[in-house]
Amino acid sequence: MAGHIFFSLLNPVIAAIFATMFLLLWRRFQAHRHFGLLALAFLLLAAGFAFYDFSPLGSEVANRLISNIAFAAAIIIACCAALQRSRIPIPFAAFAALLIPGYAAFVWFLVLVPSIDARIVIVGLIFSGLFLISVTKLLQAGPSSTPDRLIVAAGILGAILPLARPILILLGILDAADGPTFRESSYWLSLQAFSPILSGTVALLFLSAMTMDMVDRLKAEANHDYLTGLLNRRGFESAIGKALLGNRHSALLIADIDDFKQVNDRFGHKVGDLVIAGVARALSSHSGAKFAARVGGEEFALYYDHSDQDALQRHAEAIRAAVRHMVVGGLPKDYNLTLSIGLHTHGPGQTLSDMLIEADRALYRAKRDGKDRAVTSRAPLHSFKPKARLA
Ligand code: GH3
Ligand code: MG
Ligand code: MG
Repeated sequence: MAGHIFFSLLNPVIAAIFATMFLLLWRRFQAHRHFGLLALAFLLLAAGFAFYDFSPLGSEVANRLISNIAFAAAIIIACCAALQRSRIPIPFAAFAALLIPGYAAFVWFLVLVPSIDARIVIVGLIFSGLFLISVTKLLQAGPSSTPDRLIVAAGILGAILPLARPILILLGILDAADGPTFRESSYWLSLQAFSPILSGTVALLFLSAMTMDMVDRLKAEANHDYLTGLLNRRGFESAIGKALLGNRHSALLIADIDDFKQVNDRFGHKVGDLVIAGVARALSSHSGAKFAARVGGEEFALYYDHSDQDALQRHAEAIRAAVRHMVVGGLPKDYNLTLSIGLHTHGPGQTLSDMLIEADRALYRAKRDGKDRAVTSRAPLHSFKPKARLA
């Protein structure tokens, strides 16, 4: 009998362990609301199993009803976690359309015409249906990454496994009445043995998906600049690494804000930050570059996959015009904000660092020649004259 109790403890304890694990993760990563939802789902699962296996209330009907409602709530909340992770609206109407008639039938076969087999079939259909609705929504949204696909796999598992026991019951392979008591029936034993596998697999699929999400996010953060959202130097170099291989038509543009220190000194660091962010936006929308990065305080680098010197100079002009017309809060409208730009097109056998050095040299010459201009590395004497400033 003692062994029986340990067996009964298996499901609530495993669910409680997963609930605790997701709760700890949620406390650590509060922005990820789906961790909190999963903690709640596994807590409800633990409560459902506790009512199912230990019948703490005097009324067996109440124990059955509470445990089944807790199971359904756990599944709904786990599905909400999966949908919320992918920013998909929760299909409340579809859930209600399944739950209301489903539980009406459940209560009918619990109270009015007691039939445990009918209840097992109904509950299996409800649980499977909840997963199926959610998986359909996830598939409609088009799972695009490995974590997305792991969550879909968890959902498909959740849709298939609850149907297994009703089918085995209908085929006569499992029986809820083949033991001296319900808790010694083949049905109950199968539930005790297989539920931890289902809940454990679903939890682990979720956990792997979320670990991958987290790694992807940290990777993206490590490669991007916080202030501008552009790539940082590390992200820029790793993005270009592959693009540059064997590409003889690539080109680099390095832009540096002129006399930026004065912006900080006259208008404050916050306005300086707004200027940097504004220049970054101008580069994103007007540069035509494949990759754009903030590689220093007020220095930016752009990579072109396919550009000759003429095209590069046109890009530089477009960028300079965009910065001229830029409006930044805190900076007077007539403030003369300018860029100096160094241009370099790929030379034979050049690596990225060779190209960066050449573009940097061109930028240095642009500064030395009076700033507010674009200079190309190939023709050291050729300095691109700034166009007349618009009033
Ligand atoms: P030059 O025309 O020769 O480029 O002169 P400059 O004043 O633009 O360049 P300098 O290197 O003398 O000064 C750059 C300044 O940029 C100094 C630094 O305090 C400021 N800076 C660097 N990063 C940030 C940032 O993230 N925000 C703000 N507001 N200022 C920054
Ligand atoms: Mg500068
Ligand atoms: Mg600088």
